[in-house]
Amino acid sequence: MLKTGLMMDMPLLLSGIIEHAAAQYGDAEIVSRETHGPLFRYTTRECAVRAKKLANALAGLGLTPGSAVASIAWNNHRHLEAYYAVSGSGMVMHTCNPRLHPQQLIYIINHAEDEAVIFDASFAPIIKGIAAHCPKVRHWVCLADAANTPAIEGVAKILNYEDLIAPASEVFDWPSFDERTAAALCYTSGTTGNPKGALYSHRAIVLNAITICIPGALGLSPQEAILPVVPMFHINAWCLPYATLIAGAKLVLPGPKLDGPSLYELMEAEKVTVSAGVPTIWQGLIAHLDQHGLKFSTMRRTATGGSAMPLALIAKFNDQYKVDVRHGWGMTETTAVATMGVITAQQQAEWTPEQRHALIAKQGKSVFGIEIKVVDDTGATLPRDGTSQGELMVRGQWILERYFKGDASPLVDGWFPTGDIAVIAPDGVMQIRDRTKDVIKTGGEWISSIDLENAAVGHPGVQMAAVIGVKHPKWDERPLLFIVRKPGQEVSKDEILSFLAERVAKWWVPDDVVFLDALPVGGTGKVQKGDLRKQYGGVFETPN
Ligand code: ADP
Repeated sequence: MLKTGLMMDMPLLLSGIIEHAAAQYGDAEIVSRETHGPLFRYTTRECAVRAKKLANALAGLGLTPGSAVASIAWNNHRHLEAYYAVSGSGMVMHTCNPRLHPQQLIYIINHAEDEAVIFDASFAPIIKGIAAHCPKVRHWVCLADAANTPAIEGVAKILNYEDLIAPASEVFDWPSFDERTAAALCYTSGTTGNPKGALYSHRAIVLNAITICIPGALGLSPQEAILPVVPMFHINAWCLPYATLIAGAKLVLPGPKLDGPSLYELMEAEKVTVSAGVPTIWQGLIAHLDQHGLKFSTMRRTATGGSAMPLALIAKFNDQYKVDVRHGWGMTETTAVATMGVITAQQQAEWTPEQRHALIAKQGKSVFGIEIKVVDDTGATLPRDGTSQGELMVRGQWILERYFKGDASPLVDGWFPTGDIAVIAPDGVMQIRDRTKDVIKTGGEWISSIDLENAAVGHPGVQMAAVIGVKHPKWDERPLLFIVRKPGQEVSKDEILSFLAERVAKWWVPDDVVFLDALPVGGTGKVQKGDLRKQYGGVFETPN
């Protein structure tokens, strides 16, 4: 018997996705909110043509395979075209989070050796501040037409995207190369130390994107209209710009308007069926629906992750708004989705809605291609018993092996240490209890800030909650709770604390509650606990 299979060996490349989509689902619509306001609409076929024009235009600027191109941009159609043109040409699409500190943006653009930066007009002030400090960048391209491209002080030449691609040929043969070639680069947010780069291969992205489409993940098909709220500058919008085109679905890109009313209006107008975003986005959207007594006409599923989706919000989506929640876990280093919550046929038939919501509040099972385990301080694997908690380790076909330009591999025995504290149940369902840096250590025991936040958000008057550990001379750390009330609600500290006392262990009840108008939220929609710690870290200086 022959030992080698006799199948074609064709590389998994991102250009294959846009070619497939244009050829098979060319009429599928792409709708995009322009940065200056109006909606733009075209087909996947037209998108593919413009991606080829851009590929030619970039080559005309002297960029070659291996060149890195940065983007500082919203989710819109030009950014999408760049995703395919840059990676498809064998260049690296480096998506930058515009909410990074300018010094960090300068750092990552120089570290990545970006030769061109494409940006949305709303980020012109950022470009003004960083341009002089990015010596390798030869081209600054505004994702707009001439009329909507601003002049930027200190940048001699700003190209506008439309004029750049207008004369370029529509004919471009996507090059073929090794599927392990770098396609995209995304830096971690760098809350500690300098940001670190995850350099994704074509292979990793394609495999992840296919996985997202399966019914047990997001269930994407030509019947869906997908609105990724998760930004294209954050882990490739969880690979949805690729998965949607693989699936032949309609893609709706929200541009800069991510508030509840704008999202609702867009979802209704474009008959969106599936969306994806971090929990804070859903808080804003649901608050809008609640306030105005609205309903979704077409929305069926929402993917969420990035931080824990509160149980109360899952229940609300499910019971009140009839939207299925797909709660996943992943990080910059895992390309996108690594685990996802699923309900089996038996759970659907036999469990109460409450039981199902509680399951979805956990982070789910590893998807095919990914393995997970939890380990103790010595690195020993802990049992999958639902209670033994330790650091979550992950490995698989789209997990980072080494950081871009990093010296030592972060892997431990071939597994990537996530810095998350988790438990895994016997059936494989994983639950994140905390991040190593957020867990509250009190009197030698651990309190899960995620569990406490979940409990607090269960109070009907609470819109958002965050818990940090505050230094305490007797107990080492004690929890401090921050609450944002729902509009018009007058919840008091005592009410909150007695509500929690009925739901969590006595020693978990926070020592104090601080009411805020809003929580500090970072560029990827996560609560910035570091900011809260900086401001409130010294509250419990006297033992109580
Ligand atoms: P950062 O938050 O530092 O910018 P990432 O965006 O890569 O980095 O976020 C990855 C982290 O987000 C994970 O390590 C984990 O702590 C958290 N996270 C992601 N998804 C979930 C989830 N569903 N529930 C709880 N935490 C999550």
